[in-house]
Amino acid sequence: MPELRKDYVTDTWVVFSAARAHRPGAFKKEKLTTDPAKCPFCYGHEPMTPPEILAYRKDGQPNGPGWWIRCVPNKFPALQIYGDLNRMGEGIFDRINGIGAHEVIVETPEHFLSLSTMPLKAAEDVLWAYYMRLSDLKKDKRFKYVMIFKNEGEVAGASLEHTHSQLIALPVIPKLVKEEIDASRKYFDYKERCIFCDLINQELEDGRRLIYQNAGYVALAPFASRSPFETWILPKSHEPNFSPLKDDFSGFADILQKVLKQMDRILDIPPYNFLIHTSVFHDEVSEYYHWHLELLPKLTKIAGFEWGSGFYINPTPPEEAAKYLREAKI
Ligand SMILES: [Zn+2]
Ligand SMILES: [Zn+2]
Repeated sequence: MPELRKDYVTDTWVVFSAARAHRPGAFKKEKLTTDPAKCPFCYGHEPMTPPEILAYRKDGQPNGPGWWIRCVPNKFPALQIYGDLNRMGEGIFDRINGIGAHEVIVETPEHFLSLSTMPLKAAEDVLWAYYMRLSDLKKDKRFKYVMIFKNEGEVAGASLEHTHSQLIALPVIPKLVKEEIDASRKYFDYKERCIFCDLINQELEDGRRLIYQNAGYVALAPFASRSPFETWILPKSHEPNFSPLKDDFSGFADILQKVLKQMDRILDIPPYNFLIHTSVFHDEVSEYYHWHLELLPKLTKIAGFEWGSGFYINPTPPEEAAKYLREAKI
């Protein structure tokens, strides 16, 4: 059974995952699965994954062909979906049994397509799948948060080449999310305005860190970008929860694909992580929190200074990063 433990010195929860247990000798570099013949996400290989939770298919049976998006439980989950949530103490320590959901969204049956190269409509459906899973997991009283994320490329943490995203539902609010929410609330208490709405207005006016915009969304390089070419995508109108705009994900799919294409162009198809920051469950009418996607191409390494200090060293100023991305010919 996986377990979460709280460290009161670093104020961090750590997941100890049974399914991923490794003996000391087993930490050799995991190889990326690149051969379509051995790929569990390729069309026709449906029996290689656990049974699907959600699928978009025209015809055919569940767990058979006919699909264009599948969502399945992670075969090696960090957390386990079955069981009751138990909080336990051990002297000064806290632990929770590792209840959670860990799912994989297979974005396409085609092995060599990516989120940036698939048709716009297909990318839109990927976002709908995120939204449907998020809405469903919100009904589970054991969970407080769902993190939707994508690891693209081996150095960004992917173990399969075939394009996919993941989500993890958690019984606790992640530390970074809590810090962002606390900071937004503090700003709101002081100014009675959403910090993200203010940020968007200022960056649209200033323009130096602006990467791309369409009617509903803006992509910008944050003023204090943690790593080169860090990009945030935000809805222009205030919205605390990851959700479609007027029942439509086309604007978000457009801006996400544009930015990924710009990065593919100027950074030579970089590995990257993205994650969606949305409001915590049961606090969804917040005036101070504003959902967004954070996209971080994996171009530098986190080393001793960063681990020890929480500082980041970034060789690329966001004004330059934004200019390169803006001017990329896609
Ligand atoms: Zn594949
Ligand atoms: Zn806002």
